[in-house]
Amino acid sequence: MVKAPFLQAISVTKTYSGAEASGVKNISLDIEPGKITAIIGQSGSGKSTLLKLLYGLMSPDEGIVNFKGERIWGPEEKLIPGHDAMKMVTQHTNDLNLFARVWDNVSAMLPSTNVRLKEEKTEEILTQLNMMQLAKQRVADLSGGEKQRVAIARAIITRPEVLLLDEPFNQVDTSFREGLQHDIRQIVRETGLTVVMVSHDPAEVLSMADKLLVLKTGEIVEGGHPKSLYQNPLNLYTAELLTNCNVLNANEAKACGMRADKEYVVVYPEWIRINKVLKTSKWKVQQVLFKGFYEDLILENDGILLRVVNDEGKYNEGDMVSLNIKKWLEY
Ligand code: ADP
Ligand code: MG
Repeated sequence: MVKAPFLQAISVTKTYSGAEASGVKNISLDIEPGKITAIIGQSGSGKSTLLKLLYGLMSPDEGIVNFKGERIWGPEEKLIPGHDAMKMVTQHTNDLNLFARVWDNVSAMLPSTNVRLKEEKTEEILTQLNMMQLAKQRVADLSGGEKQRVAIARAIITRPEVLLLDEPFNQVDTSFREGLQHDIRQIVRETGLTVVMVSHDPAEVLSMADKLLVLKTGEIVEGGHPKSLYQNPLNLYTAELLTNCNVLNANEAKACGMRADKEYVVVYPEWIRINKVLKTSKWKVQQVLFKGFYEDLILENDGILLRVVNDEGKYNEGDMVSLNIKKWLEY
């Protein structure tokens, strides 16, 4: 017998009443167990809708969502909406008890039938998520990012088979975000947890996902491994979501020395090399945007602007430079 797919959507459509271009359209996807699948899309592209459909917080108008071969029940069919084997964490942390300690918020998710086990599990999850030092604090006294960690701990401690994350790192400071992302990856690796996350932030999905799907106005337009998707996106939309890329029309591309057959040419800032060869240099450094260990330079020539990554720090505004474009994409 063939094993039933783990979590699967087949031609799923959901339209909100009164709003024609809303919700999601004809989505088919297969979520691989034990992996992190990330869905990226602009705001309003249908990410939250899709996640709710996968969880059973909403029923599709058409199509079907299956978990291990069984149709997921919608909210009309179930007393407590949401599939029992799944947990969802969103950017809202309003189901936390603000006046209770972190420890109690997390341990409250487990039954009290075995108090010893409950303590052990709580300590284990708080340790895995690097939160033991927060255990005695009241949730009300935590930062937004720390509350988010508590919400994730509460979701994971019940050992769901699937964890659904709806932009849960929004509140988390950049410096802590990487730590939290790493901890979640570690938990996925150690426990075989399946994660489906949605986000509009490329930094988040590129570093976390095993597989990336791109959602545009309610439809999945492409998918693949983050690295290959980043290097060779099929759509201009994807390139613009994943990078701060340069988009030129064919004429502008020609003026920059690129032969192009299609309408648009995309050059990532890191695909451009620059040097100061004084005589032939026709690009002017218009802006130097300091980014820490590197800079983004905005170059200008004949009204065309190009963003270039520079990690050498030897350029100043007003300098004239030449460039060498190593790679470009056409759309
Ligand atoms: P995302 O999470 O990617 O920002 P959503 O899934 O929240 O997108 O929304 C997708 C589209 O559906 C948007 O155009 C949004 O305005 C619309 N939409 C979402 N929820 C509702 C609703 N309850 N009623 C009407 N339209 C909605
Ligand atoms: Mg959303």
